[in-house]
Amino acid sequence: MPAHLTLHDTLTRTDREVTPLDGKTLRFYCCGPTVYGPAHIGNFRTFVAQDVMRRVVEASGTPTLHVRNITDVDDKTIRDSLKAGQSLLEFTQGWTAKFHADCDALNLLRPHTEPSAVAHIPHQIAMIEKLIANGHAYAAADGSVYFRVSSYKDYGKLSHLEDRELRLGASEAASATDSDEYTKDSLTDFALWKARKPEDGANFWPSSWGEGRPGWHLECSAMILEYLGEDFDLHSGGVDLIFPHHENEIAQSCCSTHGKFAHHWMHVAHLMVDGGKMSKSIGNLYTLEDLTKRGYSAVEVRYVLISGHYSTPLNFTMHSLDSARQALQKLAKADKALDRGTAPIPAAPGPFAEAWDTLLKDLNVPGALGSIFGTLNKLKPAALSADESANTRNGLHFMLQALGITLPAIMDEAATDVPAAIQSLAQQRWAAKQAKDWAAADTLRKQLEASGWLIKDSKEGFTVVAK
Ligand code: AMP
Ligand code: ZN
Repeated sequence: MPAHLTLHDTLTRTDREVTPLDGKTLRFYCCGPTVYGPAHIGNFRTFVAQDVMRRVVEASGTPTLHVRNITDVDDKTIRDSLKAGQSLLEFTQGWTAKFHADCDALNLLRPHTEPSAVAHIPHQIAMIEKLIANGHAYAAADGSVYFRVSSYKDYGKLSHLEDRELRLGASEAASATDSDEYTKDSLTDFALWKARKPEDGANFWPSSWGEGRPGWHLECSAMILEYLGEDFDLHSGGVDLIFPHHENEIAQSCCSTHGKFAHHWMHVAHLMVDGGKMSKSIGNLYTLEDLTKRGYSAVEVRYVLISGHYSTPLNFTMHSLDSARQALQKLAKADKALDRGTAPIPAAPGPFAEAWDTLLKDLNVPGALGSIFGTLNKLKPAALSADESANTRNGLHFMLQALGITLPAIMDEAATDVPAAIQSLAQQRWAAKQAKDWAAADTLRKQLEASGWLIKDSKEGFTVVAK
C-alpha cells in the first residue's frame, strides 16, 4: 500500500507523489470563485475534487494548509454590482455567503485561509512595482501596466503551447476584451493594472501609475506570496485556467521572487451538459439550488461529481442523480448491517485496503467506489464476528470520510415510489431531527403532510407513506 497520494502533474506530465516540501504540512492553493452569482455544479466539480484530494492527504497522515481566494473584483463583479445598485463589497459579500452555504451543504472542508482580492490591493501593487523595477513590466501611456511576456523565457511551459498558439490565444482575447489593448507593446502582454474607466464606477484604487484596479491574474500571485511564500506544494483549478491564468501566475511570481512557485499542478476536467461545457455565459448551468428544488440532496450531487475521474470530462444527467441515490442507499444499508453497536477502533481502511490503494493512485475515485461495492457485495455481515464487523464498518467509514460522503437515512423499498421532491423533504426533516432542530423538523413534517405524505420514524431511519 503506497503511503502517499500520487497525482498527475500538468507541468511535467507525469504522475508524482504529493509530499510536503517542508516534510510536515502539504501547503496548497486553489483558485476560488468569482462571486457575481451562484456557483454552478461545474465549478463545484473542481472544488469537490480538490476537497477529496485534501481529505485523502489528511487521511494518509499529512496535515494540510489549504488557501483558496475569493475573486471579488473583475469586469463581471463590477458590472453586476452596478446593475444591482449595490456597492461592490455588499454585492460580493452576498454571493460569498451563498457560496459558503453551498460549500457546507456539499460537505466541503473550509479552506484554512480564504483571502479576497479587494483586501489585498497593496500586495498586488507591491508585486507590480517589483516587476517594473526588474524590467518584466511596463506602464503604458493610459496608466495601465502590462507584463512583458518576451522577458520571461519559460512562458508557456505549463500549457505546452507553441509560441504561435500563444500569440493566437492572446490576440483573440485582446480583440474580445477592450479597445485600449493597443497601448501594449506586444499582443501577448497581459494587464497587471487596468487604468480606471468610466464603467468602473466607484471601483478604483490609487497607484503610482494612476487610478485603476489590478488585473485578474495578479491577485493569485500576490496572495500566494503572502500566505504560502515563494515555493509551495501544489496549485489547482479547472482545466480552463491552465492558459492563460496559471501561465500568467507563474510568469508574475517567478519574475518577482526567487522561488519556483507551485511544485505540482492539479487540473480538473470540466463537467459537461449534453456534451458541452457548463458555463454561466452559455446559460446551460445548474446550481445546487436548482437540483435541490428538483428533490435531490446535496450528498447525491456530491456523489455524482466525484463519480468520474477528475482528469476526464464528466457528462451530467438527471439520471446520474438517481443512480447516486441508489448507490448511497446501498452504502447506508451495508453500514446498518454492520452495526453491532461495537466501539469504534482507530481509523484504517481494514478490508477496504484495495479501495484505499486505488484512491491513492491519481485520486481514482470511480475505481475506489467500484472496489468498495465489490468488497461489500462479497460480504456476509451475519457471518462476521463482532470484531470483524466493527473492523469492516470502521474501514467503510474511513473510506467515506476520505470521499466526504455522509450517509443518508435509509428509505424503505416502497419509498422508491415516492416522488423525489418528497423524499428530499423527508431527508431534510431527518437531518433537522438529527441536528435537534425540532422547529425545522416540525415545519418540514407539516409541509409533507400538506402534500399528502406521512412520515413514520424508526431508530435507523424513516418511512414515507401516502396519507
Ligand atoms: P470561476 O468562478 O469562474 O472563477 O471558476 C471557479 C472554478 O471552477 C475554477 O477552478 C474553474 O476552472 C472551475 N470551472 C468552471 N467551469 C467549470 C466546469 N464546467 N467544470 C469544472 N470546473 C469548472
Ligand atoms: Zn488563480
